Amino acid sequence: AVEASGLCKWFKKFQALRDVDLQVRRGERIVICGPSGSGKSTLIRCLNGLETCQQGQIRVNGRALAPGKNNLEIRRSIGMVFQSFNLFPHLSVLQNCTLAQVRAQKRSKEEAVEIARHYLARVKIIDQAGKFPSQLSGGQQQRAAIARALCMKPGTMLFDEPTSALDPEMIKEVLDVMVSLAEDGMTMICVTHEMGFARKVADRIIFMDEGRIVEEAPPEIFFSSPQTRRAQLFLDQIL
Ligand code: ATP
Ligand code: MG
Repeated sequence: AVEASGLCKWFKKFQALRDVDLQVRRGERIVICGPSGSGKSTLIRCLNGLETCQQGQIRVNGRALAPGKNNLEIRRSIGMVFQSFNLFPHLSVLQNCTLAQVRAQKRSKEEAVEIARHYLARVKIIDQAGKFPSQLSGGQQQRAAIARALCMKPGTMLFDEPTSALDPEMIKEVLDVMVSLAEDGMTMICVTHEMGFARKVADRIIFMDEGRIVEEAPPEIFFSSPQTRRAQLFLDQIL
């Protein structure tokens, strides 16, 4: 569903991605991990067109992302969830979930509300639909952000450290939602250091360092016998 080849990305003179190749098939679950600054966020932001890379190609469902264009159709087919939730603070949870449906997908108000309520129930916060984001816990806000992304009915979901801003007791409720999406067959690319989640749902773990993919393996192999010193050190620190 998502194919990237030869991606190179510079910020001024600094090279953040170095010849990254990544193939993600429909229904596959990928976990990306690696040290801070290794390019994980940059990579997934490139995949949905939030950043443009200077070299390489990205295809989503066979269609090439065109650099410098808005790539609306491709971007709508990819849902993105950020560490910092990024909900609209002045809109209720329900309005957060209906806005893009009505504006971008031209659904009727009624249909948008019905779809929003469906996904809010799915992430177990339907009772919070009328509140503003600031009135929700961090875990509830993140689940609202996931519901908002799902309302666009994306084929692929990208997660960038969705639980790292959360208090420990709220991490599980967000991971539970992610596990249930995985069980439903959603194509998922998740940047996370939640290794329990990675073991449970990932088909492949991708380990990045200094802008490169340096290791790629199924979780049982990655965790028990990492091939590089860099990955070994990383695992020693987080496990
Ligand atoms: P973290 O685990 O801390 O989130 P990361 O692996 O997601 O790290 P990126 O955010 O992708 O890392 O950043 C990769 C490198 O690119 C870093 O050195 C970062 O400083 C640099 N970088 C990222 N965004 C920008 C930007 N907008 N302008 C300049 N440099 C940037
Ligand atoms: Mg990051």
